[in-house]
Amino acid sequence: MRLAHSLVPTLKETPAEAQIASHRLMLRSGMIRQTSAGIYAWLPSGWRVLQKITRIVREEQDASGSQEILMPTIQSADLWRASGRYDAYGPEMLRIRDRHDREMLYGPTNEEMITDIFRQSVKSYRELPQMLYHIQWKFRDEVRPRFGVMRGREFLMKDGYSFDLSYEDAVVSYRRMMLAYMRSFQRMGLHAIPMQAESGPIGGNLSHEFIILAPTGESAVYYDAAFEEQDWLKSAFDYANPQDLESFFTQITTPYAATDEKHDAADPRWAGLAAERRREGRGIEVGHIFYFGKKYSEPMGLSIAGPDGKPLTPFMGSYGIGVSRLVGAIIEASHDDAGIIWPDSVAPWAAAILNLKQGDAACDAMCEAAYKALGAEALYDDRPERAGVKFADADLSGHPWQIVVGPRGAAAGRVELKRRASGERVELSLEDALAHIREGGLARAG
Ligand code: ATP
Ligand code: MG
Repeated sequence: MRLAHSLVPTLKETPAEAQIASHRLMLRSGMIRQTSAGIYAWLPSGWRVLQKITRIVREEQDASGSQEILMPTIQSADLWRASGRYDAYGPEMLRIRDRHDREMLYGPTNEEMITDIFRQSVKSYRELPQMLYHIQWKFRDEVRPRFGVMRGREFLMKDGYSFDLSYEDAVVSYRRMMLAYMRSFQRMGLHAIPMQAESGPIGGNLSHEFIILAPTGESAVYYDAAFEEQDWLKSAFDYANPQDLESFFTQITTPYAATDEKHDAADPRWAGLAAERRREGRGIEVGHIFYFGKKYSEPMGLSIAGPDGKPLTPFMGSYGIGVSRLVGAIIEASHDDAGIIWPDSVAPWAAAILNLKQGDAACDAMCEAAYKALGAEALYDDRPERAGVKFADADLSGHPWQIVVGPRGAAAGRVELKRRASGERVELSLEDALAHIREGGLARAG
């Protein structure tokens, strides 16, 4: 994209309403603009990040065997009456009336709708197990929308649902999702810790929240140092094949990890942990997986024919990822005083090309050549701005690589390549710079 004619409205000043780094940096780098409290428009660079995160989530969901669908944002109140949640949900639900005075709502989640769709279409035990997901906007009228996209009112969620014939099968679905989640977060450059969460009326231990560590997180968290050890995590992934999901699950859920709501200092895994292996911090919830058995299938009358002809009620689970919240969470986990530091896999562009002297024949030619070679993965800063402004905006926006083209270098056929994460700079030919980006950045991003 050529920056001179693009909507990337960077700000020098820090907006007064932003209390945390990610919100500040998203506004300052021109990724989003608020249109109402807790409701945001995604501008080109923000939208590109959101799409890259969406793509990773989608690929890992597909790899786990879940089927993508798209359900509407608007739902009928009757569906929610059938499950008994219409009144229980409270003021977080945005309730709407259509012209015929029918009660509708903007979906905060989709358990009822997916159960209804399943109930209309699936008749036999032979069609199970199944998993379905969609990536769709949700609305929750949060009491205190804050921190930008981290706690918005309208937000993008991946929500998935599993249908199984038995509790044992449902456990397998749950573990498959646990693996898909750990893989998704790892690909985004995040260190997510699965923490035992409140399991609701069904009990059991099949409810986990995925927490990203960040000082500005809303929950206090307590965990075993194992979660900071890359080797330990890698060894868990070694089990991650469909035949040995159980070993993966056991390894990843054995060390102690809990948010303050569930923290139990008397738990032997915490009480018995050496002081130097105990970690306390704060975290952001980016995902939640949950087994709830027949909580919706029973009251909503989802029943299928079993092998002996007798009706069976499927066991269900639901699996959410806060896709738009992740944009903020990644920034919370990866920034410095100058701005965002995007992991390669989710950066809006792999590289920014900084033309330090627009109109200089050698600079312009070299920048055009770089832009042509990198294609859609490049942001070409061709604005008639001072070099200092371009440097500051590139650091602020967090592009993993910067190709800096000045008149002296360009005349000698050389550019400066900067790696945003390390601050490392090298002077080299454009060909070598492109090769570095392709090997280190583009290859992984693609
Ligand atoms: P929270 O405790 O943060 O309100 P929740 O328990 O209500 O989250 P779920 O219903 O499990 O959330 O939704 C799945 C995911 O959607 C969450 O893990 C979170 O990442 C994301 N999410 C929930 N509410 C919001 C929101 N208001 N803005 C952005 N993302 C959200
Ligand atoms: Mg909530």
